[in-house]
Amino acid sequence: GLSRILVGSVAEMVIRHSPCSVLAVRPDSKVAAFKNVLVPTDFSETATYALDLAGQMVDADGTITLLHVLELPVAFSGEVAPDFARDLDKKSAAALDASAARLKNARVTTRSRIGYPGAQTLSTIEHDPNIDLVVMGSHGRTGIKRVIMGSVAEKVVRHARCPVLVARKRA
Ligand code: ATP
Ligand code: MN
Repeated sequence: GLSRILVGSVAEMVIRHSPCSVLAVRPDSKVAAFKNVLVPTDFSETATYALDLAGQMVDADGTITLLHVLELPVAFSGEVAPDFARDLDKKSAAALDASAARLKNARVTTRSRIGYPGAQTLSTIEHDPNIDLVVMGSHGRTGIKRVIMGSVAEKVVRHARCPVLVARKRA
């Protein structure tokens, strides 16, 4: 297939329907000790499980970057009021800190971005060459358990240049 598109239909089917977590790897990616792990979160139960899993995957002296992407209403065409953006940013930072506090034994840094979650996650990976693993949920708040892969998960799995661990807790 095209080199930018990672996942074939078999892999995608396995990721969609697997009862357990699945690690998707590219042929050219190194799977060694994971030192810089990116965890995109929408604060859903699945994403929280992904964070716990990331805590187990990351190397003892590694770092987890916890990323939340704020989706602004697209219908809005003017400039975003600075107060509104600042308020959102503050809320996001507080939620990220609360989430990061779950991990007692790993170094965690937090980041928030405005935009589309899939695109912002991919751009974070592109801009930080040290990121060697992504751990994320297969669905978010709106997902139907175990059957459907959310659009953010699908996008990241397809296009990320590093391995992606799609976290799923066995029922
Ligand atoms: P959809 O959003 O397509 O309706 P969904 O909400 O069920 O579907 P996704 O949004 O793909 O599923 O969520 C899968 C994973 O993607 C989440 O567990 C989380 O790791 C990540 N994710 C989703 N939204 C965001 C976001 N706004 N910021 C950061 N990560 C996100
Ligand atoms: Mn979602």
